Amino acid sequence: MTRQLPSEHSALDADRKDEFRSRQDEFHLLPHDGAYPTIAYFAGNSLGLQPKVTAGRMAQELDDWATLGVEGHLEAKRPWIDYHTYLREPAARLVGALPQEVVMMNSLTVNLHLLMISFYRPTAERNLIIIEDSAFPSDSYAVRSQAALHGFDPDDVVVRLKPREGEFVLRTEDIERYLTDNASKVALVLLGGVNYYTGELIDIETITAAGHAAGAIVAIDLAHAAGNVPLKLHDWGVDWAAWCSYKYLNSAPGATAGAFIHERHLGNKELPKLHGWWSTSRESRFEMKPVVEEPHSADSWSVSNPPILAMAPVLASLEMFDSAGMDALREKSIRLTAYLESLFDVVCADRPMRVITPRDPERRGAQLSLQLDNTDVNAFTNRLRREFGVIADARQPDVIRFAPVPMYSTYHDCWRAAVALDQIIDTLQ
Ligand SMILES: *Cc1c(COP(=O)(O)O)cnc(C)c1O
Repeated sequence: MTRQLPSEHSALDADRKDEFRSRQDEFHLLPHDGAYPTIAYFAGNSLGLQPKVTAGRMAQELDDWATLGVEGHLEAKRPWIDYHTYLREPAARLVGALPQEVVMMNSLTVNLHLLMISFYRPTAERNLIIIEDSAFPSDSYAVRSQAALHGFDPDDVVVRLKPREGEFVLRTEDIERYLTDNASKVALVLLGGVNYYTGELIDIETITAAGHAAGAIVAIDLAHAAGNVPLKLHDWGVDWAAWCSYKYLNSAPGATAGAFIHERHLGNKELPKLHGWWSTSRESRFEMKPVVEEPHSADSWSVSNPPILAMAPVLASLEMFDSAGMDALREKSIRLTAYLESLFDVVCADRPMRVITPRDPERRGAQLSLQLDNTDVNAFTNRLRREFGVIADARQPDVIRFAPVPMYSTYHDCWRAAVALDQIIDTLQ
């Protein structure tokens, strides 16, 4: 039986009345040939929609290249030689860092590796790497390969923390207890700030303190947290972090990623690093000396000259985050996610499906993960897309993720998703 959901009119009304104006008209919405002309897009946690300003920003760089050639390094509208530095301050604001603690470079997994070269320094006694059992595969593979690089058997040193029996997310107290009980053995804690599968936002500050009390380095993968939830990496004392720019940050597939290294590590010349010509200070770069002269900033971790076409979209997007304000986005995000949750509550009641994301808004960002029993989640999301113009994504084995992104998602999108779910489930029963 189709459930009693709020009226379409009430959803449209909620959009009109919300104090945070949706910036939907600043994005390319996907066309849809159906009851509505556009797709209700819930995959912004996988690849954000394209801002309309992006194409012009990229065209500017292509034009500068066409007309200036190599002279663009110094004479482009935004001179390429320092391009990564234009991203530094807005990115630092987004993650709660000092500017010198942030560098935009490479891609996320590459940054995880570069930072583990510096910060995973295992010994015979202290060598464990702690991740969550639902870690994203790239992180799992990265830590295993780092363990192997140091001559360890990954099965011996990579610890995957699991939620308690019958629970979906890790409890902070259980992470703390593990760290206390294994205080002499843990070398590195690397956890997702927001877990890609469950949507859980971890208590970064408490876990960082617990990791430090155990003598470990604490690192956070912010792939699903940057641009999604407010962060205070510096104040929380996180040792290092890395994130990608194409999820909540709407910066094009494979766009340049970010890295954070806490100020306390910047002056440490003993840390091993993999260097290239962009690791040396700006002043020494063209002196062509044989030995690097590291700047006192996260830039000493960068290796190559900045990929302008992969950074132009990031700069445009970070400007949008600055102008929207992360606090206002977060408030809207909390309202929008709570609305979607209230609709899912109606749809899920007495059915073999449930939201596994924490109900507490402090423990989640803009994502609800719906777990469906005995359902082919890929076939289900295909039907959402084909029959209703709703894009969400399936994650094996049994979850469909919905991200109502405050920058461009609407209450009406949420309403469309709930109606679509309800109708598909009716046909399955
Ligand atoms: C999306 C995501 C990645 C992707 O890594 P790339 O290097 O950008 O391909 C890695 N880790 C996590 C946790 C992610 O969510």
